[in-house]
Amino acid sequence: MKTILKFGGASIQDADRMRNVLNIIKQYADKKPIVVVSALGKTTNALEAILNAWFKHDTTWPNLLDSLKAAHLSICKDLALQTTNAVEYIFDSLQEYLENTLPELHAYDQYYDHIVAHGELASTKLLVSYFNERGLACEWVDARGIIHTDDHFRDVNIDWEATELAAKAKFGGDEIFITQGFIGATANGHTTTLGREGSDYSASILSYCVDAEHMIIWKDVAGVMNADPKLVSDAIVLPHISYREAVEMTYFGAKVIHPKTIKPLQNKKIPLLVKCFLNPSLPGTIISEQEPRESYPPIIVWKENQVLLSIQDKDFSFIAEKHLTSIFNLFNNHRIHIHLMQNSAISFSVCTDANSRINDLIHDLQLQFNVVRNEGMRLLTIRHYTEDSIQKYLAGDEILVEQRSRTTVQLVTRKK
Ligand code: ASP
Ligand code: MG
Repeated sequence: MKTILKFGGASIQDADRMRNVLNIIKQYADKKPIVVVSALGKTTNALEAILNAWFKHDTTWPNLLDSLKAAHLSICKDLALQTTNAVEYIFDSLQEYLENTLPELHAYDQYYDHIVAHGELASTKLLVSYFNERGLACEWVDARGIIHTDDHFRDVNIDWEATELAAKAKFGGDEIFITQGFIGATANGHTTTLGREGSDYSASILSYCVDAEHMIIWKDVAGVMNADPKLVSDAIVLPHISYREAVEMTYFGAKVIHPKTIKPLQNKKIPLLVKCFLNPSLPGTIISEQEPRESYPPIIVWKENQVLLSIQDKDFSFIAEKHLTSIFNLFNNHRIHIHLMQNSAISFSVCTDANSRINDLIHDLQLQFNVVRNEGMRLLTIRHYTEDSIQKYLAGDEILVEQRSRTTVQLVTRKK
């Protein structure tokens, strides 16, 4: 049975980290893992900047592309690689594409996927050259021949049947495979991406398709923690959580793993380990079907930069089902995700991210409703809360909306 190892951008951001990753993979070599890799460090952001400059006909893009290529080649040099052709070729073909394509306004998302995918193509080419030169035989696999998607560029749906067929055919062999996270292709061969930070999801799709024994995500933290250690100094590692807890945490905004990662694993009961690439001997976190024996400590998640919308009918009538239907339709049409909602007799409140689409939503809502908008909110979610934990993490902030179930409390708050 296969093991899937997933390495994110931070784990391969420089030559030392790549040496470290080689050592980790060597420890799994006899299991012939499928290794899923993101782009180096902040490469995806850099490629977004190149895309945006090129799209606006801003002539700085060739310089940006040159520096990204140089950054990759400098790592090749630090690793004393003999052959860098494969890496150079990725950047040269991107340059050629950009020079020979006139951007058309309507196709932004399609360009996005085509261009940004070069980060993962380059990182995997680099790693395969490096591993092979250091005596670890492995095969580079183009994920675009495996992960089949529809053409909702930047936010695709997976064609599970085609993907499973391709994955089983490709990964049947007894080799170490290195492939890209984040990317796939349509039936017509157009490159697609699975959304930012989507490499976790790629790894879980492949785990599902090859019926993996387990999947390991390598991160720079000791495992899944009960809070972001940058925000909570006494955050602790959770040694074991259930799929269900992981889904709830990511749904409420915990940034440990991509929210779509769990479902394919849960469907086939494939355990997920989250381990620390800086210290592989640490046990990390195991995510599986079973609930842990010990109860969970409070798990704290903040979403910053929230907007609270209070929606009322213009003639002061009750918020009835027919209103809710039209309100939900508008949220859905504007692709605005509701994080929390609450209604009273005449008002319906929604907490959501402050993003660029919200003005259009409000404009449409105002055709039928009065809308009051409160900016600068935070949404605090505590799973397995205690009264003490609420007071501790609220830290005196003003509460605008509060919602409790037996396991979860959610508070829309504003700094006092
Ligand atoms: N490189 C992509 C990103 O930064 C995908 C990933 O890292 O998972 O969003
Ligand atoms: Mg990344």
